[in-house]
Amino acid sequence: MRYDVIVIGSGPAGLSAAITLKIRNKSVLVVGNAEVSEKVEKAHEINNYLGIPAVKGSDLAKQFLDHAKSLGVEIVNHQIHTVYAMGEFFSLQTTANEMLEASAVVLATGVNFGKPYPGENEFLGRGVSYCATCDAPLYKGKKIVMIGSSKKEEAEADFMSEICSEVIYIPTYQDEVDVNENVQVVREEPVEIKGGLKAMSLATKEQEIEADGFFILRESVSPGQLVPGLAMDGNHIQVNRKMDTNIRGCFACGDIVGAPYQYIKAAGEGNIAAISVVEYLNSLKK
Ligand SMILES: Cc1cc2nc3c(=O)[nH]c(=O)nc-3n(C[C@H](O)[C@H](O)[C@H](O)COP(=O)(O)OP(=O)(O)OC[C@H]3O[C@@H](n4cnc5c(N)ncnc54)[C@H](O)[C@@H]3O)c2cc1C
Repeated sequence: MRYDVIVIGSGPAGLSAAITLKIRNKSVLVVGNAEVSEKVEKAHEINNYLGIPAVKGSDLAKQFLDHAKSLGVEIVNHQIHTVYAMGEFFSLQTTANEMLEASAVVLATGVNFGKPYPGENEFLGRGVSYCATCDAPLYKGKKIVMIGSSKKEEAEADFMSEICSEVIYIPTYQDEVDVNENVQVVREEPVEIKGGLKAMSLATKEQEIEADGFFILRESVSPGQLVPGLAMDGNHIQVNRKMDTNIRGCFACGDIVGAPYQYIKAAGEGNIAAISVVEYLNSLKK
């Protein structure tokens, strides 16, 4: 099935875009986090969202979700790995290696991607990977290191331990780690990926760990890597006032297009992006 629009990200920007798209009668899929966004969930008390004073983040997240669901917005709990612009449509690859299709895309991924480790960009595709499901076959019977930014990634380490000869898992979070017994957990701070023609080792503050592959699993990937060819302005996606990016049919909104990082600004931009998508879809019909 080809959707009219796929919205990547289920925070205030993405859900706001999705409800307006639904009201404008477009088929829309939101790919993101079934719990909305950690940045909403974890806020202690929010005082600057118009009409909803002194609200707990978890309550606001529930209101966002209830609103979206009441309009029939479909939200799936996946991460998009790469967005390919195919001309009149987009092909989106999930980290579970599924392909989705849409005529337009809204990027509302927030700003969680963090700074790359030295060597990460240099060796990307040459021993460094962001997606266990996509690249697992390359490392059958081999030794890998996985850096996980949240508990969610532990399932990926378990999965890789069924395929690889050795899996070293480095959590960059504090929670207790619960992985298969054949995954070796190393609590050390990653510093740099080193190598020659390909990545060969990970330097931590304590040691250098040699391996065949290095998986860096974060909550989100940087927009430049998510959408090849996307024009950036530092860490943010370049957009105009209509939330158009430099790629036709691809729109962006919320924290990912720049500060101030605020719920109401994100939701407002989601609304603008949705209206621009509707104009774009209409132009395709002419
Ligand atoms: C603790 C805390 C308190 C805050 N308090 C306030 C406040 O009081 N008032 C205020 O105005 N602002 C506050 N903020 C800022 C506010 O959280 C952000 O500005 C807002 O959440 C941005 O919304 P967004 O939709 O752009 O991005 P986010 O809320 O970050 O949502 C991004 C979504 O995209 C998903 N995603 C990312 N990459 C992918 C991918 N590749 N595939 C699929 N999904 C993806 C994420 O999982 C997430 O669901 C606070 C932030 C924090 C952290």
